[in-house]
Amino acid sequence: MTDTKKIRVRYAPSPTGYIHIGNLRTALYNYLFARHNGGEFILRIEDTDRTRYIEGAVENLIKTLEWTGLDYDEGPFKGGNYGPYFQSERLKIYKEHSDILLKKKKAYHCFCTPERLKALREEQQKQKLNQTKYDKHCLNLSDDEINEKISQGIPYVIRLNVNPEEKIKFNDYIRGEVEFSGELIDDQILVKSDGYPTYHLANVIDDYLMKVSHVIRGEEWLPSTPKHILLYEAFGWGTPVFAHLPLLLNPDRSKLSKRQGDVAVEDYRNKGYLKEALINFIALLGWSAGDDKEFYNFDELISAFSLDRVHKTGAIFDLEKLNWLNAEHLRKKSNNELIEMLRVGLKESKYSGLEFSDEYLRTVISAMRERVSFIKEFYEKGFYFFEEPDTYEDPGVRKGWKPHTPDILKKFAEKISAFENPTKEEFEIALLETATEMNIGKGNIVHPLRLAVSGVSGGPGIFDILSIIGKEKTINRINRIIEKLK
Ligand code: GLU
Repeated sequence: MTDTKKIRVRYAPSPTGYIHIGNLRTALYNYLFARHNGGEFILRIEDTDRTRYIEGAVENLIKTLEWTGLDYDEGPFKGGNYGPYFQSERLKIYKEHSDILLKKKKAYHCFCTPERLKALREEQQKQKLNQTKYDKHCLNLSDDEINEKISQGIPYVIRLNVNPEEKIKFNDYIRGEVEFSGELIDDQILVKSDGYPTYHLANVIDDYLMKVSHVIRGEEWLPSTPKHILLYEAFGWGTPVFAHLPLLLNPDRSKLSKRQGDVAVEDYRNKGYLKEALINFIALLGWSAGDDKEFYNFDELISAFSLDRVHKTGAIFDLEKLNWLNAEHLRKKSNNELIEMLRVGLKESKYSGLEFSDEYLRTVISAMRERVSFIKEFYEKGFYFFEEPDTYEDPGVRKGWKPHTPDILKKFAEKISAFENPTKEEFEIALLETATEMNIGKGNIVHPLRLAVSGVSGGPGIFDILSIIGKEKTINRINRIIEKLK
């Protein structure tokens, strides 16, 4: 970056009750950009739309953000030199600033009734105008007229006075030069009749007062940017650098939406995705370091990230890649970390009432770690380490269960009884001896034995399973299958 100004960026969500994946991407890119450049990352809550107030939404947002590890330097419940960080607590600031715009005649009071505005819109639609726009009806009211109306208690809004002749040009860091014609820009409402500022006014004032150097946000905000630029000009302020991130798309290239799957970060968390995988995945939605590298931990992302390598084109949300990354990140975890995570998972599972030693979980983990993509798969795919199988997979039974199978299994049970606490190797010896003595191939024992102890045909090596569940359970399960398949 050539900019010598201190880098300060912000994530400015409106609390809607959850964090959309696209918003997490915005937060992440801001965060990575700040950390990479030794800058500051601010969290600002844009809660001026009181009609959309949701109880607990802010707390939930912060909790989710905390889970992802994107810690902010300034923001709610943390403070900073440029607070408050809730827009709803900054109303006085917005009022002072809208007064400045009124005084400069960059903004004006508008007393038009909703009925008049509706009729105007309908008339413009009838004329098939490309766009419906306010007609500046109230622009030239005199001060006396304005004061009179205000004293009568007539509701009003404050609008930006846009010059339709003006061309608004700016250089987007990602998209390059962008130009909008003033003609297409409505005389935007800046202050609503309830006295609250609109997004546009509050956002610009705060970015300026909070000394935000780069506004990094989703492409859906690009059409708002010329309005913001007009506001910066109206105040006589310099603009921050704007960088609009590419849209997130479904695999069919439609806009990422709830209809095609989960869009809330919380959904992914609840499904058991690791934050490391989610962050890694989201980082790659619209950015790459320019090589084939796909697996990143947090620190690697911080050092590799640059806005220069953010793509212009929409980024496709590929769930399979996320699943793959989840498995990769899971594999990087140490046994101790996995034990801890498995305990948390088990506590929320149907096995919550059961006790397992760390040693036991460690053996399950080493048998299963290459076979799982999610923590819950340790006990979903590997349920037989936590309970006795109750049913036996059908094709396995049909293929592997012969009339003499019960005798074979009984023989094997007898063999292992001879050991006090058989090791993996001893289970193997027992199996080989059974095969030799009964003059059969090993497969005739392995398949039914696997069914007996696990109920399914796939999974880790049979001797791993046997040594984990132990002699007693193995014998019980052999007896049980013989009984059940009689
Ligand atoms: N409050 C807006 C949002 O919900 C912020 C947009 C911006 O970053 O300017 O995403």
